[in-house]
Amino acid sequence: MSWEVVIGLEVHCQINTRTKAFCGCSTRFGAEPNTQTCPVCLGMPGQLPVLNTVAVDKSILTGLAIGAKINLESRFDRKNYFYPDLPKGYQISQFAVPIVEGGHIDIPGKDGEKRIGVTRIHMEEDAGKSMHEGLEAVSHIDLNRSGVPLMEIVSEPDMRSADEAIAYLKQLHQLVRFLEVSGADMEKGQFRCDANVSVRRPGEPLGTRTELKNMNSFRFIKQAIDYEVMRQIEVIEDGGKVVQESRLWDSVKNESRSMRSKEEAHDYRYFPEPDLPPLRVSQEDVDAIRAGMPELPGQLRRRFETEFGLSPYDADVLSQTRELASWYESLVAAHPADPKRCANWMANELLGRLKEAGKEIENSPVSAESLAGLLDRIADNTISGKIAKDVLDAMMESGASADAIIEERGLKQVSDSGAIDAIIREVMAANPEQVEGYRGGKDKLMGFFVGQVMKASRGQANPGVVNQRLKELLKG
Ligand code: ADP
Ligand code: MG
Ligand code: ZN
Repeated sequence: MSWEVVIGLEVHCQINTRTKAFCGCSTRFGAEPNTQTCPVCLGMPGQLPVLNTVAVDKSILTGLAIGAKINLESRFDRKNYFYPDLPKGYQISQFAVPIVEGGHIDIPGKDGEKRIGVTRIHMEEDAGKSMHEGLEAVSHIDLNRSGVPLMEIVSEPDMRSADEAIAYLKQLHQLVRFLEVSGADMEKGQFRCDANVSVRRPGEPLGTRTELKNMNSFRFIKQAIDYEVMRQIEVIEDGGKVVQESRLWDSVKNESRSMRSKEEAHDYRYFPEPDLPPLRVSQEDVDAIRAGMPELPGQLRRRFETEFGLSPYDADVLSQTRELASWYESLVAAHPADPKRCANWMANELLGRLKEAGKEIENSPVSAESLAGLLDRIADNTISGKIAKDVLDAMMESGASADAIIEERGLKQVSDSGAIDAIIREVMAANPEQVEGYRGGKDKLMGFFVGQVMKASRGQANPGVVNQRLKELLKG
């Protein structure tokens, strides 16, 4: 009998505010340790938190984008635990009544889309960072991150494989970036995931879960889940029981290890935060946030298909980020005659070259207007598509315009039949046997002649004219 995998995810996503959740300190990443702190985020006694309303609005926007219910009154609670990077001894979070409840994220699957339920989104503050690297017998604490606002996005246990979990995370990652509620830079820890994993026989109630903590790479998350599924199945098939616990993925050893069991970890003694009043938002505010909602990735993808006739694949590639999508729209605006040609050249040629160069679209050495200039020269037959690829290489190198490169290198396509006739005569003179063969009925030799003429013209002869003139001159 086979096993069914059950996964529920908790994502910690940094809300991209300028200042922290409950004080005016900067959230800028990479500053000298402990330079962005104040009595509030250092946890000094007697300091009162003041809620950052930008973080509230961005949480609401995220809730609306996933079709969730916005609680017009929510509450803050204290989650009590001791850790050196948590100077107050508690984290301000939302426990009993979060700001967002319900909603869903649809992921692509083999048989169409699958809907993954979202349980809740609550606001909370981040803790500081402990630093051990390069230190002996001591750890250092950096409290710049202490008090940075987070959304915790909790899913239902609706995913049935590591691939589904990754698909969900990618959709969510794309969404928060489109909404501009988070930079979601995983390397900077702005989008981190705890994966809850269990296995069961199909039809049985949920099995005991373990929780893989704090992962910030899609690749490691997949590896960690796959490993955990194997481990749990082995434990059960060997007659044992899965213990509910938190585990840490070791990406060097490619295995997870137990961190702490749930029993000891879970007594957080939540209680209402006495220093913050209940969080009230008006329906009018919620409606105004809804009215300002940008186009979402799925809507954009469908619009690219209908408005520009793109294949689902190209539409998907070009709607991955807002930057890509707006670059593509600038390209179409500058070369409106052929949106599909625009998509082809951007998705296949430009993005490929950028990837090789390790660059993002935002710092492409070739601008949308400049690429449009190249496409114009293909459209008006100045150059062939094949030559255009070489021109694009040169544009990537020098940043020069297509016209300048075509001019400088003399790449203009030759359509003049006089010039082409001269090349054909040379080719015929060099290949008398083939000419005889063709005239004797070997029609297939036409391909040979076309190839020779194109080669002799360095690819610049207009293939249509070449074909037509060859037929004429080979007749004899
Ligand atoms: P906690 O706060 O202890 O982590 P929650 O009850 O809030 O616990 O659950 C956290 C996550 O665990 C949710 O995403 C939920 O979907 C998931 N989850 C709960 N039970 C299971 C289970 N048996 N198997 C897999 N995931 C589960
Ligand atoms: Mg959890
Ligand atoms: Zn502060």
